[in-house]
Amino acid sequence: NEARILQLEVTHFGRDEALVIVRDITRLHNLEQMRRDFVANVSHELRTPLTVIAGYLETLEGSGMAPNGWQKPLAQMGEQTERMTTLVNDLLLLSRLETSERDSGGEKIAVGELMERIAREARSFSDGRHEIGVDCERDTLLIGDGTELHSAFANLAMNAVKYSPSGGPIQLRWWVDQRGGHFSVTDSGIGVDPIHIPRLTERFYRVDAGRSRESGGTGLGLAIVKHVLLRHSAEMSVESVPGHGSTFTLHFPPQKLVSETAA
Ligand code: ADP
Repeated sequence: NEARILQLEVTHFGRDEALVIVRDITRLHNLEQMRRDFVANVSHELRTPLTVIAGYLETLEGSGMAPNGWQKPLAQMGEQTERMTTLVNDLLLLSRLETSERDSGGEKIAVGELMERIAREARSFSDGRHEIGVDCERDTLLIGDGTELHSAFANLAMNAVKYSPSGGPIQLRWWVDQRGGHFSVTDSGIGVDPIHIPRLTERFYRVDAGRSRESGGTGLGLAIVKHVLLRHSAEMSVESVPGHGSTFTLHFPPQKLVSETAA
């Protein structure tokens, strides 16, 4: 007599008639849970072997004991191990975020500081190829989980760098209005065709898998952003013109904001 999970769908006809459909989604729910657990377990189990491999590779490269002609293959093995580590870490983060979709922590995050930190990280990632500006209209405290918010904001900034291969300006913005707080990243890169936009937050969905891999993408970045937003009652909108650039904007509701003076 285990608990069942039911989904109700009510359609009204006129004033006093309604159609009620009850679906038993217990099985679906359990399968989804099994999928999540499986991914979390596999990712977790892969971490130790990866750490060992990365450690030995580093020692071998640094010791000068690598046989002649092995420097390049060793460097490539190092790069691929690093990529796999990033992938495993992203998978773990995503499965942690998926387990509970509501209400992240109650830390108060200074948006201005967070933006400066992300701009520094993006500048170092860009290696001088992009001009990265910060425009924080009014410093605000955002209520949520600092690590998660950093990861969402940073993913958008890194994508702006990755998908502007010929350089160009990147602007990070924060502004507050009566609908809440808004964080946006604008680039003048390759852009996304609007038909792809609704699917960008699916796991492993990439417009161009080759380009994404080349730039170190795991295909999980925007899925992570989506789950962080779900946990902060926030939403994302995307505007893009292929060949001209994109703006990704995160919208936080007023109840997630504390003005600096009130804190
Ligand atoms: P990836 O690791 O591939 O970057 P993401 O989940 O972060 O994965 O993004 C999914 C896809 O969305 C990318 O592969 C890319 O095709 C597209 N995309 C994301 N950000 C941008 C951007 N700023 N400009 C153009 N395309 C983008």
